[in-house]
Amino acid sequence: MKQYIDSAVEQFRTLLEEQIARQQRMEKESGATDFNSLDKIVIGICGGDGIGPIISKESERLLRFILKDEVANGRVELRNIEGLTIENRIEKNKAIPDDVLAEIKACNVILKGPTTTLKGGTLESANVAMRRELDLYANVRPVQVPDENIDWIFFRENTEGEYVLGSRGVEIPDTLAFDFKVTTNAGTERIARKAFEYARANGKTNVAIVTKANIMKKTDGKFSEIAHKVALEYPEIEVEEWYIDIMTANLVNEQIRSKFQVVLLPNLYGDIITDEAAQIQGGVGTAGSANMGDKYAMFEAIHGSAPRMIEQGIGDYANPTSIFKAVEMMLRHIGMSDKAEKLAKALSICTETEKKVIVTGDKDGATCAEFGDYVMKTLEKLV
Ligand code: NAD
Repeated sequence: MKQYIDSAVEQFRTLLEEQIARQQRMEKESGATDFNSLDKIVIGICGGDGIGPIISKESERLLRFILKDEVANGRVELRNIEGLTIENRIEKNKAIPDDVLAEIKACNVILKGPTTTLKGGTLESANVAMRRELDLYANVRPVQVPDENIDWIFFRENTEGEYVLGSRGVEIPDTLAFDFKVTTNAGTERIARKAFEYARANGKTNVAIVTKANIMKKTDGKFSEIAHKVALEYPEIEVEEWYIDIMTANLVNEQIRSKFQVVLLPNLYGDIITDEAAQIQGGVGTAGSANMGDKYAMFEAIHGSAPRMIEQGIGDYANPTSIFKAVEMMLRHIGMSDKAEKLAKALSICTETEKKVIVTGDKDGATCAEFGDYVMKTLEKLV
């Protein structure tokens, strides 16, 4: 037993030193990329696993359609990045193989298909690794249900909490297992600022901070304390704090849920509650997700790689709406809000009002490509 304890204590020292160094790097960071100042915007497209390549191919087709002129005149380059597949990641035993990561880092923004994460083992999630490697600290997920007056936007901290050391816990065989959760001052401050800046810039009047600070006293306690400190710089915005358990209930409480506007959360709670919110909007297929840092940003569908759809031979019937929403968020991020608005309008027509082509995720519905055609035809009709 002593040898396990000694080895764990040694490991903890290494982890502590690494995390302190990360906090110090964050403190020195500079501002965000100004896309208008770039000669060329490079959009990298990673297919991913399972239904990923199918929905990614469709979103590339959509992007080429929307950005026809910009691609032709060299303002935008769409670049396919191979190798972010579970087979390649297992072979190289790396969450993101080095050559793939280098290609990703040569782009400005990434559109990513879902990637499979193995249960157990030591191979880290490609998503967690990408968020860390590109320092994509803000996971931003909007959810809207206009009929119910729901207009939420979630700012989930994306690089810390339970995820940053998720594959580096300690285990003493047949005895116990230990994982680590990390919250830093700089990591919390930058996500809080992003949420409050968004609220201020978009006329939002309320930010809800969500933690479990009554139980996770150190980590969530720090998140709460720093978020409140940042809030003082935004006196026009009303701030409230909820514990994650009751907030989960609030979202299904029709009496009060429409009052929430901007929600700020640590990593794990944000991961869980945004799927709940997406379900309220109409399913995980209906929401896009943005992972933003200061230099890079990655956009993806909110759902996973749906391996069962591939096993059942119905991959072509996958719904691309979620990744199309991610395309919309990406266009907005790179300064093409007019194109994003147009796509949002087309998606609303296709999925809410006209609904001429319906994807069900099975053979009784339209294929992913048929829905892509429908969206592009709808876009063509919009002035
Ligand atoms: P999942 O989202 O892949 O599937 C959940 C359910 O939704 C399944 O019934 C699936 O068939 C359905 N579904 C998902 N996307 C769909 C689409 N576009 N059209 C129609 N139906 C769709 O979740 P899971 O089964 O928990 O995870 C599968 C794999 O995906 C796991 O390895 C997981 O780690 C990974 N995952 C990746 C990401 C990501 O890359 N961002 C996110 C979540 C899960």
